[in-house]
Amino acid sequence: MIKTVDLQKIFTTDEVETTALNGINIEIQPGEFVAIMGPSGCGKSTLLNILGMLDNPSEGQYHFFGTEVARMSERQRANLRKGNIGFVFQSFNLIDELTVFENVELPLLYLKVPAGERKKRVEAVLERMNIMHRRNHFPQRLSGGQQQRAAIARAVIAEPKLILADEPTGNLDSANGLEVMNLLTQLNQAGATIVMVTHSPHDSGFAHRVINLFDGKVVTENFHI
Ligand code: ADP
Repeated sequence: MIKTVDLQKIFTTDEVETTALNGINIEIQPGEFVAIMGPSGCGKSTLLNILGMLDNPSEGQYHFFGTEVARMSERQRANLRKGNIGFVFQSFNLIDELTVFENVELPLLYLKVPAGERKKRVEAVLERMNIMHRRNHFPQRLSGGQQQRAAIARAVIAEPKLILADEPTGNLDSANGLEVMNLLTQLNQAGATIVMVTHSPHDSGFAHRVINLFDGKVVTENFHI
């Protein structure tokens, strides 16, 4: 389970303080698919960054499957993040100089998985994401939908406990967006816990629960059956 307790995040720039998160208490169970919605500037990305251990809160606690991470150093967070969290971004964030295969292989290289096993695992996930035929291509030669499928393959290759998706269909047309949402749903049905930031009511319909933020606070939570 992941859980936040009175999470606060205050940014200070040029002596101006911005309260991006103002007392967030959420609990997400293993296997849940949660969407986070709310107007621009309400704190969605800040919350996702903290859940992904890319940033620390100013106050409060963050429990990640039993470990309290809010006071960890950047290095400790980076170590815990490796293999435990997979990220999917609106802008795909693939490395242009690496092929699809090499991009997807990267998390396993960081985890020092032997070459033979890496190849087997990368090929299996490329098949699953329907992108195997593009394994030797560079990202710039792929369509947006193909790039996002490669990015999802990279996010899940190390079988992370948590997948974080930030507007995963934001740069895709509706057909490719639907394919990406179907893939995320399949991963969730296979056991992955997913937290997704979205502006799209259509995409949030794939989640079990929608958490609405406003002004750094949770305002409502809606459960889908
Ligand atoms: P959202 O993702 O919902 O659009 P953000 O989490 O990006 O909202 O931002 C929440 C608030 O925090 C905004 O007022 C934004 O300007 C501010 N903010 C976010 N990141 C920073 C930062 N690195 N430095 C200063 N202010 C920030």
